[in-house]
Amino acid sequence: MAQIIDGREIAKGIREEIMNEIKTMKGRGKRAPKLTVILVGDDPASQIYVRNKEKACVEVGMSSETRRIPASIKQNELIDIIKSLNQDEGVDGILVQFPLPIGLNEQAVMDAISYEKDVDGLHPFNLGKLLRGENPLFEPCTPSGIIELILSTGVEIKGAEVVVVGRSNLVGKPVAIMLLQRHATVTICHTRTRDLGEVTRRADILIVAAGRPGVVYGDMIKKGATVIDVGMNRLAEKLVGDVDFESAKERASFISPVPGGVGPMTIAMLLKNTLRAAERQTA
Ligand code: NAP
Repeated sequence: MAQIIDGREIAKGIREEIMNEIKTMKGRGKRAPKLTVILVGDDPASQIYVRNKEKACVEVGMSSETRRIPASIKQNELIDIIKSLNQDEGVDGILVQFPLPIGLNEQAVMDAISYEKDVDGLHPFNLGKLLRGENPLFEPCTPSGIIELILSTGVEIKGAEVVVVGRSNLVGKPVAIMLLQRHATVTICHTRTRDLGEVTRRADILIVAAGRPGVVYGDMIKKGATVIDVGMNRLAEKLVGDVDFESAKERASFISPVPGGVGPMTIAMLLKNTLRAAERQTA
């Protein structure tokens, strides 16, 4: 029976460290770090995510502002808002909540954020640095959270067979690169992978970020593997991951649950990036 990786508890520890660092900063007469979130339109899930981010900022002593913008905004107007936030010395981190309403180009919006305020770590400068094996200013939040969860188990990444299911720019690709840098042997799967189970059964560490509930079952997991479930799927008011938890926990040594696994870590990493941005900005 697998040991559950408690993302809530690990994230709580990180948030406490951040809170203490902010207290020290303020004690030295510096202002609180500030995150500005841009929320365009009224997607219900995005509203919840943004509220959670605001709450998390306030709890650690950061200042948080959400710009709620109607879905009718034009691309150039949105970019102008981002440009003015780039110039604003009182703002350390900028995050645009995705998905954007149809008609707005997410890539162009992301590219408009200054890489020095890119606390999501998704700007091409930061992603490019990551790919080159150089230190980006910010690493993407969900992949960083996944790495922290793996490290918490004590399982060695160096030399491990890692399989990542999913190749998005948000999760699959960056986490694969981060694990490669830690000397894992990494395989990335996607919808054209011929026999998913045949590949996942090779994994000492299996990361599943497909956005499809039940894409991985227990019989697709090597006995003793570490399984990180990134999926967040809302089924009849219930949040489930991509991994069939009941059958997977019989095979794995460690498994992250949904909810309470990767989700809280993503927010903790966002706070960490915002603190780093503030330290740079106010240095
Ligand atoms: P995405 O952009 O939709 O990408 C999904 C990836 O999974 C694609 O590469 C797709 O392959 C692959 N895939 C889908 N079905 C598959 C299947 N049956 N077999 C093999 N590969 C399959 O999703 P994402 O943004 O990476 O997010 C993935 C999941 O993680 C979602 O549930 C999302 O909500 C969740 N998420 C959670 C957090 C968190 O903080 N907890 C953060 C981000 C994302 P193709 O490329 O071939 O289409």
